[in-house]
Amino acid sequence: MQAESNRSEVRLSGTAASPGVARGPAYVLFKGMSVVPCYEVQDAEAEIRRLEAAISATRAEITLLRDDVARRLNAAEAAIFDAHLLVLEDVALIDDIQARVRSTRLNIEHCFKEGAQHYIEIFENMKDGFLRERAADIRDVTGRVLDRLIGAQPSRPAPARGGRVLVARELTPSDTAGTEDDGMAAFVTEEGGRTSHSAIMARALGIPSVVGVVGLMAAVGDDDAILVDGEDGLVIVNPSAETLEHYRARELVIRTRRDRIMAEVGLDDVTADGDPFVLQANIGGPEDMDDVASFKARGVGLYRTENLCLRLDRWPTEEEQHAEYAEVVRRSAGAPVTFRTLDLGGDKRLGALEPEDNPFMGFRAVRLCLAHPEIFRPQLRAIIRAAALGPVSIMFPMISGVEEMRAAKAAYREAEAGLAAEGVRPASPVRLGAMIEIPSAVAVADRLARECDFFSVGTNDLVQYLLAVDRGNQKVASLYDPCHPAVVGSLRAVFTAAAAAGIHAAVCGELAGDPEWAPLLLSLGASQLSMSSSALPEVRFLLRHCQKSELDALGERVTASPDASETRRILREFAATKMRQR
Ligand code: PEP
Ligand code: MG
Repeated sequence: MQAESNRSEVRLSGTAASPGVARGPAYVLFKGMSVVPCYEVQDAEAEIRRLEAAISATRAEITLLRDDVARRLNAAEAAIFDAHLLVLEDVALIDDIQARVRSTRLNIEHCFKEGAQHYIEIFENMKDGFLRERAADIRDVTGRVLDRLIGAQPSRPAPARGGRVLVARELTPSDTAGTEDDGMAAFVTEEGGRTSHSAIMARALGIPSVVGVVGLMAAVGDDDAILVDGEDGLVIVNPSAETLEHYRARELVIRTRRDRIMAEVGLDDVTADGDPFVLQANIGGPEDMDDVASFKARGVGLYRTENLCLRLDRWPTEEEQHAEYAEVVRRSAGAPVTFRTLDLGGDKRLGALEPEDNPFMGFRAVRLCLAHPEIFRPQLRAIIRAAALGPVSIMFPMISGVEEMRAAKAAYREAEAGLAAEGVRPASPVRLGAMIEIPSAVAVADRLARECDFFSVGTNDLVQYLLAVDRGNQKVASLYDPCHPAVVGSLRAVFTAAAAAGIHAAVCGELAGDPEWAPLLLSLGASQLSMSSSALPEVRFLLRHCQKSELDALGERVTASPDASETRRILREFAATKMRQR
């Protein structure tokens, strides 16, 4: 229980991104490059001494981190911190910053930010991929030094986060990669929407999250008591005694409901009148396989393979990929595993990728892989080698049309033939599918279906591209509306095209794990739903208590609905009635 504070309570609202209620001291993740004060100073040398102190504290911090990672993981993973330590010794950078302080007589934080930014840009614009990768190291390390200078906590000290609420302006996939072991109580961010990656990560970890909280960073300081209501999208800073009392009662209701849901985890996946449905899990790596087993998923419907690259912040080798993939297939124990090939670009950025003005529309996912066989081939080989151990499917992200699908299949066939020549063959034929997440793929779904063994609809991106609404931008979060009739119509068109071609169509975007949406997706024709493991129990509970005829009627009502608000009302009412009936 959090100690009550004398400071007054502040309530902030945002988008409920992952359910549950949690409280704990805030852990504010500064990225260092945002709000930095600027003022004149009398003593430039004193500022330079502050810089030296910040650098030496950062050196100690990184050394600790390196030793911790070497102990918990391995020396190769720890080596990245040696590269970070070198940045702190970079004479060109340090000299430039000292010269700025002496010539402008402005404070060190300001001069440091300007100097670091300049230096990062130089590296970002380098032609050589290896040198460009250094920009990410420099950004990370200079962010830490800046955090020291402006008096914030160091930005990524993994050990101290357990039980805390992670507060940040935004969390990128690389910020959250590796937080699995930290035991964070909740995530809250000022930016982002329900399908931004921090929200997906929170759901995967089964911890509450609220995103798009306007004014968050200004209202919360490190160690402030903070209560996160992931059901109603509320963040309460310094909760009063009455608020804590209210939430104690609320938590009891939530826990009772959870107990009822969990009691059905081991029961059959069939509707109340015996119609079977298939629920699978979305994973980011072998570490998620315990949940897949305990929440009884029927295999993996989406393996986000790019997570390994984000964790390493570089391209992994074929062997590194194979080690992870083989472990996942082995631990799936005969249930199918659907690999999504590397979906990098967009907001999933590696230092090795050239910056782009419009990355979501840019050099992403299968586009990048098709243009770089030296990246694509080792991944395909690693997957096919893992397929020797159990049933595997592969799907390609961001497929825009038939030619791209054919090119991806050709790359697969080439990798398969190469391995066959080495005597390595999949245990059973690998099924090849397209992710449907671009409107053009919806428009040609009938033709695309003839090229595919299956479809998997990535609703997170499909909604963003159909409605032209950035899924991570808080300013347009209210426009990111899956209830828009264009979304419902597109889903129906995709499922119909798949059925006509005799292939199955799964949904692996976040809508699949949303209890209000799962019944509708089945009724529109989805053959499988894949979601964060933590979402499986509630979706299973709800579907087990639906009659097939009720699902059919729901689909008809929503198809006839005139607008998004009516659709929302129908879906809410249906899910709430089902939960009340039990
Ligand atoms: C999607 O777009 O719905 C999806 C599953 O992929 P991601 O969220 O990783 O982009
Ligand atoms: Mg996607």
